[in-house]
Amino acid sequence: MKYRQIGQTGKQASIIGLGCEHLDRKPYAQVKETIDMALAHDVNLLDVFMPGEEIRDHIATALGDRRKDVMIQGHIGATDINQQYDISRDLPTVKKYFEALLRKFGYIDFGMLFFIDSEDDYRGVFETGFITYAEQLKKQGDIHHIGFSSHNPVTAMKVIETGVPEMMMFSINPAFDMLPSEHYVFDYSDKGFGSDLFRGIDPKRAELYQLCAQKQIGITVMKAFGATKLLSPDHTPYAKPLTVHQCVHYALSRPAVASVLPGCQTAAEMEDVMRYFSVSGEEKDYAEVLGSVQNDFKGSCVYCSHCQPCPVGIDIAAVHRLVDTARLDKANIPATLRAEYAALESAVCIECGHCEVRCPFGVPVIENVKEAAVLLG
Ligand code: SF4
Ligand code: SF4
Repeated sequence: MKYRQIGQTGKQASIIGLGCEHLDRKPYAQVKETIDMALAHDVNLLDVFMPGEEIRDHIATALGDRRKDVMIQGHIGATDINQQYDISRDLPTVKKYFEALLRKFGYIDFGMLFFIDSEDDYRGVFETGFITYAEQLKKQGDIHHIGFSSHNPVTAMKVIETGVPEMMMFSINPAFDMLPSEHYVFDYSDKGFGSDLFRGIDPKRAELYQLCAQKQIGITVMKAFGATKLLSPDHTPYAKPLTVHQCVHYALSRPAVASVLPGCQTAAEMEDVMRYFSVSGEEKDYAEVLGSVQNDFKGSCVYCSHCQPCPVGIDIAAVHRLVDTARLDKANIPATLRAEYAALESAVCIECGHCEVRCPFGVPVIENVKEAAVLLG
C-alpha cells in the first residue's frame, strides 16, 4: 500500500480506500469479508455515507477493535426517510442521524457536509445552523476534520472559497471530467454517457483540482468507474472500455487527489482492485482510450504519463500537475507547491522531443517544463 496526505488535514490515507455504499443491504458475512480483505491490504480509509442502521452496525461489528486502524468519512445530512437515501438540511433530522453514527463509531475522522451540488445545497448548509453544527462537532472533538462531498465543480469551488472545509470527496472519472460543467453528471450516469458531448477535459473541473492543490484541499474520490459504465463494452463512451486499474490510475493522477474509494461489494472485487499495485505501467495507461474522442482542449495535459520515459528522468505528468496549479495564481504560488517541485529533483530538459512525439494530446511539454522551472524553481 502507498499513502498520501489528505491536504490540510495532515492525515495519511491509503491511496486506495473502500467506499462502503454497495455493502448496504448485504448480509453481514459479505460485509465482513470485504472489510477484512481491505484491511488485509492495509486500507485505512472507509467512506460510510449510508444512513441505515443495519449497515452501520455491520461495519462497526466487522471492524471491532480495528476501528482505531481506519479513518472514517461520515456524512452530515445523509438520512434515510422511508428507507430511501435522502439529503436533509433540517437540523433535528441531521443531528439524529449523525449522532447515531457517532455512537456507533465513537468519533468520526472526517465529518463531511453531505452532497453540496446546487446553489440550494450551498445555502442550506452555509446560510443555516447546519454549518454551525458541523463546526461545533469539530470543536467538541466528535469529528476531527470538516470535509464535504460534491459532484459539481462550480459549487465545489464556491464551498472551498469559504475556507471552512479541509478536504473534499468528489466524483472523478474520465467521462465526468470530459462532461462540460454545465451538464449534471447524474443526468448521464443512469442513462449512459455517449461521447457526443465530450470536448476534452472540462476546464472547470481542471480548475477545481488545481484550486484544491493550491489551497491544500485533499480530494478523496467516489464514482471512479462511473457506476461501472466505463468498464462495460456496451456502455463505455470511448472506443473501448477502461479497466478498473486504468480508472484508479486516472483518479490518482489528478492534482490534490489523496485516495480513491471504489465501491467494492465482495472480497474478490476488493482483491482485484488491489492488483493496481502489481499490474504494469502499460496496463494502467489510459491515454489511448481517452485519445479516442474529440478533444477541443488539445494541448492540455491529462497527467497520463504516456510520454514517459524521459531520458533525463523528468516526471512529466508530475511537473505538469504542479505548473498547471501554479498558473492559477502566478503571483501567489504556495510554498508547498515549490517544495513539491523541489522534491521531484527534476533534471534540466535536454529538449530531445521524445515526449512530444509520444503525447497523444499535443502538449507542448518542452515549453511547459521550462515554464515550471521559472515559476517553481
Ligand atoms: S504530456 Fe501528454 S502524454 Fe505526457 S502526461 Fe501530459 S498528456 Fe500524458
Ligand atoms: S523533451 Fe525534455 S522532458 Fe521531454 S523527454 Fe526530452 S528531456 Fe524529457
